[in-house]
Amino acid sequence: MRPRRPDLLSQYYAQLIQYLRGSLWYNNLMGVRPKDTRTYSDRREYIIKAVSKRRRAVKTLAIEYKGGKCQLCGYDKYQGALELHHLDPEHKEFSIGQRGHSRSWERVKQELDKCILICANCHREVEAGIISV
Ligand SMILES: [Zn+2]
Repeated sequence: MRPRRPDLLSQYYAQLIQYLRGSLWYNNLMGVRPKDTRTYSDRREYIIKAVSKRRRAVKTLAIEYKGGKCQLCGYDKYQGALELHHLDPEHKEFSIGQRGHSRSWERVKQELDKCILICANCHREVEAGIISV
């Protein structure tokens, strides 16, 4: 008797099923969430980059929203030298760089409406009382 030829079709299906079981698609379909074994230290670099990317994007949006230039002298050369000055003295500074960035854009806009966009020079002069706003 000749040895049985391996059944190529069932081998193919067995391999396909094995492949699918490891796939995200299959796990999602079956409601299985593979355990996320990444730790904070694995993702630290990524998270830091993602947060600073978002901060820059929000600052760019905020500057556009506020007209793109110093509202006192018209300076518009460098985004890094444009700052937000809170008109309510209770909140002297609106720091887009801190908590501001984790807020939704709607919340950021609400805050922006209470601020003026001015350049660093004008900001210092405002703080020193040389100019009043
Ligand atoms: Zn200015």
